[in-house]
Amino acid sequence: MTVPSAAVKRPLLDIPFNDWFKAFELEPKDSYRVRQVHTWVFDRRVRTFAEMSDLPETLREKWEGTFRLRTLVLRRREVSAQDGTARLFFETSDKKSFSSVYLPAKGGEGDRSALCLSTQIGCAWGCVFCASGRVALERNLSAAEMVEQVFWAEEAFGRKINSLVFMGMGEPLANFTNLVQALQVIRSPLGLNYGARHVTVSTSGLVPQITMLAQTAPHVNLAISLHAATDETRKKLLPKSSAWTIKDLLNAAWAYQRATGRGRVTFEYIVIKGVNDSVREAQRLANLLRAKKAWVNLIAYNPVEGLPYQTPDDATVREFAKILTQRGLFVRLRKPQGTDISAGCGQLGEAVRA
Ligand code: SF4
Repeated sequence: MTVPSAAVKRPLLDIPFNDWFKAFELEPKDSYRVRQVHTWVFDRRVRTFAEMSDLPETLREKWEGTFRLRTLVLRRREVSAQDGTARLFFETSDKKSFSSVYLPAKGGEGDRSALCLSTQIGCAWGCVFCASGRVALERNLSAAEMVEQVFWAEEAFGRKINSLVFMGMGEPLANFTNLVQALQVIRSPLGLNYGARHVTVSTSGLVPQITMLAQTAPHVNLAISLHAATDETRKKLLPKSSAWTIKDLLNAAWAYQRATGRGRVTFEYIVIKGVNDSVREAQRLANLLRAKKAWVNLIAYNPVEGLPYQTPDDATVREFAKILTQRGLFVRLRKPQGTDISAGCGQLGEAVRA
């Protein structure tokens, strides 16, 4: 699947940094111009070449006619009255809509803001509990469209975002090439310069791509949507990504951990009433992950209109967490955020056009 070429102008952020010099058709003596463009794009956040005042007029005009610095427009934002979580609604140059979610810092020490980025418009992976899985895949987002979500969010909220999480609409590893290019831009000191521990790629469990990620991408944290402790339950919840067994998935996760030297792998577990919330399931999950360097993020299911699944009560979720911690696992109980504006985990459905 390809991203539509933006007619004439090429999005600059889709071009690897190493190729900028060639793309700009510069003489070797003028190679410092590349560095100037980096500064304008990433430090000063200009949206046009015309604003790059220390470049000669001729270059500005030539590059303005050749490249695009922005391809998205932030159409509107919706802010949760509950907790300040915001859903950002973007429009692409081919008039498609999608959204990402901004999670504000809550003010406590060590508390961080985060942006949950989308990687595709729609999703083909059909996880049965997820609103995004109900939206047919329209296309991959380009690398530029992924990075620009960060630009727009930082500009909208007037602050640097601490953590980036590729966990919005779409399966990031199904858009592998564009994801890797976006990660290059995000991680590079010449780009957004995020440290490895501030960037997380979350996958529903595409085993071959997890291996490729370790080999070809800048290092980042890995999060795996596990949601079940047996292949049987996982198949019901994630019918497509359970083409790989839990055993193969965990082996890929540990191999990623060894190859990249990253810390704990995060396992996302959405607790769904009567489906995967039993004591037996918690014990099985503990057996799978005990003695491993892992975090378990427990998220009580956020209801999605039209889906038959229900949120378990607090006591059930707490008991599930207790069973895991008693067996030595590191567990984070994720509070629902932005559920009043359908920005909670698994709730990103169609982005209605503004
Ligand atoms: S959980 Fe992720 S991979 Fe699964 S349907 Fe939703 S967006 Fe797609």
